[in-house]
Amino acid sequence: MSAWEAVIGLEIHSQLKTKTKIFATDPYQYGELANTQAGPVTLALPGVLPVLNQEVLDLAILAGLALNCKIAEITKFDRKHYFYPDLPKAYQISQYDMPYAVDGRVEYAIPKTQGEHLVRIHRIHMEEDAGKLLHSHHPDMQVSYVDLNRAGVPLIEIVTEPDLRTSTEAYYFLATLRNILRYVSVTDGNMEEGSLRCDANVSVRPGPDAPFGTRVEIKNLNSFRAVQAAIDYEIERQIDVLESGGQVIQSTVLWDADARVTRLMRTKEDAEDYRYFPEPDLPPFYIAPAKVKKIANSMPELPDAKRKRYEAEYQLPPYDAAVLTQEKEIAEYFEATVKVCGDPKKSSNWVKDEVLGVINKQDIALTDFVCTPARLGRLIQLIASGDLTSKMAKQVFEHIYTDDMDVDAIIQKHGYKQMDNAELPALVNKLMAAHPDNVTKIKGGNERVKGFFVGQIMKATRGQANPGELNRLIDEWLQKSTS
Ligand code: ADP
Ligand code: MG
Repeated sequence: MSAWEAVIGLEIHSQLKTKTKIFATDPYQYGELANTQAGPVTLALPGVLPVLNQEVLDLAILAGLALNCKIAEITKFDRKHYFYPDLPKAYQISQYDMPYAVDGRVEYAIPKTQGEHLVRIHRIHMEEDAGKLLHSHHPDMQVSYVDLNRAGVPLIEIVTEPDLRTSTEAYYFLATLRNILRYVSVTDGNMEEGSLRCDANVSVRPGPDAPFGTRVEIKNLNSFRAVQAAIDYEIERQIDVLESGGQVIQSTVLWDADARVTRLMRTKEDAEDYRYFPEPDLPPFYIAPAKVKKIANSMPELPDAKRKRYEAEYQLPPYDAAVLTQEKEIAEYFEATVKVCGDPKKSSNWVKDEVLGVINKQDIALTDFVCTPARLGRLIQLIASGDLTSKMAKQVFEHIYTDDMDVDAIIQKHGYKQMDNAELPALVNKLMAAHPDNVTKIKGGNERVKGFFVGQIMKATRGQANPGELNRLIDEWLQKSTS
């Protein structure tokens, strides 16, 4: 039996965050009442003409640059014909042989494994989205409805080279790509709402030196989990077909997320089936290098650069820097916290160990979290100043997000206060004198027994003793008793 290797290439559609559509002035927002955002151009009424939205071009170029593509000087739109009720014109305005961006590259890392991976971007083109069909399966009458709100919404389609080899690689590449596009604010990247959609092309071959096998394109992948599960399913299916002497047929399949299987949709159509030809209503156009340069200069810091800056500027370990920059919101939250408290390492620990834990458990967005950077920053300030022990700080933190209150108000209400240091020496003296056996152990070199004394006093003071002062007093006591 051979060691099968999978080959995977992705086609990613990403909605651009513009106010209006790609060729029309209709506004678009997700979730509005059906057909309330579809004017004459979207409906393809007779006599209407498309006009390119300049913001679409700017955002598309920004995305292209963020993915390290070359931006074309001349580009054009083409008509791609197919007949379907969600497409009023019976053709989609897309780009065929002169896409606006080519030859990009994206580096990504897989946590817990070594090294960086690379995916080459074959091309990116602009196109318009189609509407949405809604099917109702009433026993007496089956009806389909069409909602054209989404028709004409600007998309970029990003086509990768077949550089991926496992579903895990596909997962982390897609996460990185989404992150980059969100960093530069060209899309909100929400897969559930369809603003980021991924099709996966999958084939298998007998080994890394064999020629590529026949590919199957999987559609309808609307979550990261679906991308990974569908690819894994399809790899297994193709291996089964080949090992039982069959052949993989080039085709398009749909992922059924409930049944967790792929289902045949059509055997692959060729480009000729679409009867592509240049869009006569939108002549080819020139993208001035000066325009591209201006957009490049306005590009915000990308995740990779931010990660390296966190290591250098904040002296954070690589793991911390990677976690904090994995999402734009996390990085913004972290930096706002540092601004308040001035302590990058403590901020990093609190954000990655506490804040993200609560966010994930409660399944809420970081931007909706009631423990704002201002509140977390204040909390960290009070730990640094010695007003709160870390144990108390954790309790205060819990109050912040359960009671939605400010740090100082919580401390006042519940009486969280670090004990007066003046009361500590008496407690230390008494405890040390009561346990000569443990004192002997420490003197014999077993430093860990010190933890026993710290623990006992913390228990007696309900965690309100200052740990720094406590350790200092214990050391002092030990030194005195030796001399
Ligand atoms: P099309 O035929 O649709 O114009 P391509 O054949 O160039 O486009 O590729 C479409 C997508 O399929 C790309 O993402 C590419 O990486 C991927 N792809 C091409 N060949 C294979 C293959 N043998 N196995 C897996 N993916 C492939
Ligand atoms: Mg396509």
